[in-house]
Amino acid sequence: MKSQRIHNFNAGPAALPLEVLKEVQENFLNFSGSGMSITEISHRSKWFEEVIHDAVTRTRRLLNLDDRFHVLFIQGGASLQFCLIPMNFLKDNESADYINTGTWSAKAIKEAKILGKAVRVAASSEDENFSYIPDHISFDKNAVYCHITSNNTIKGTQWAQFPDTGTVPLIADMSSDIFSRRFDAAPFGLIYAGAQKNVGPAGVCMVIVRKDMLEKVPGNLPSMLKYSTYAESNSLYNTPPCFAIYVIQLVLKWLEETVGGLEKMETANREKAKLLYDVLDGGEFYRGTSKPGSRSLMNVTFRLPSEELEALFVKEALENDLGGLKGHRSVGGCRASIYNATSMDAVGGLVDFMRAFEKKHG
Ligand SMILES: *Cc1c(COP(=O)(O)O)cnc(C)c1O
Repeated sequence: MKSQRIHNFNAGPAALPLEVLKEVQENFLNFSGSGMSITEISHRSKWFEEVIHDAVTRTRRLLNLDDRFHVLFIQGGASLQFCLIPMNFLKDNESADYINTGTWSAKAIKEAKILGKAVRVAASSEDENFSYIPDHISFDKNAVYCHITSNNTIKGTQWAQFPDTGTVPLIADMSSDIFSRRFDAAPFGLIYAGAQKNVGPAGVCMVIVRKDMLEKVPGNLPSMLKYSTYAESNSLYNTPPCFAIYVIQLVLKWLEETVGGLEKMETANREKAKLLYDVLDGGEFYRGTSKPGSRSLMNVTFRLPSEELEALFVKEALENDLGGLKGHRSVGGCRASIYNATSMDAVGGLVDFMRAFEKKHG
């Protein structure tokens, strides 16, 4: 039992900024002078409209989105997008490119195939256990879109630069790195991110879609499965997950006003990741599982000399108030997820612990 908060390295749901949690707590019983909590008011009230409008405005500012883009909030997590994307954009006589960089890419491919859509795997890093981001990619210039996973949460790899697909719109699953660094949104037809890694609580997926993509949406899809429904109603076609969107709004406010914007966030994220990769590179005891050049700034994956030592590492780390360091159940090993809300202080604590653990057991 812990009597106070610990340093949280969970992969998702993951750490949220302490300032945001405190703000939620302070305002919970009486939101914005309404005399009610955010979970008790109408999604059509002026209070909630301000929340969702502010969340959209801050997203536009932080990511430099011009008015060709809609910012939407959709329930069903990132996983629902795996089928919505082909349903909305891919006709039966058309084909889309997918780049397979691990578990989540593979799921996106699987769902498109279930729908009977023509999916072409333009590159894969499966040959080396997804430890790298492919650079030999055979793009189809007639593809309707090219789908990538920008950060591979489980394998610990990340696209350092996005591939050049020419006129083919990129579609990216940015669940575990949206708002962690700057990028040019222009080549993207759609970007999606389940909120619970880097922007807020579980229960909602942010979807940024370029308006011209909506022209592809077939008329015979049910309303709740069409991107155009959400775009036309500002994500208020039905009751949205109000609380999750509210926390996202506060996280984005924190990002702009406390952190000072995406450039500052990116600098901090690079510094945090470097501290950990320096430990992995500094000796033989810890071994990073992703290749330099493909390493994730968000999920640092590593092995120790034995599974016994890995289990002991996770256990002793928690005794030292460092939680969530076990690797994904499908790959084993250890993983430190260091999203935006993970402080330099937390990473420093982990580095000290890793050095001490190595001294004792190495
Ligand atoms: C966590 C994760 C998902 C799944 O998100 P859900 O919201 O649980 O559906 C998909 N893609 C990536 C890259 C993830 O990290």
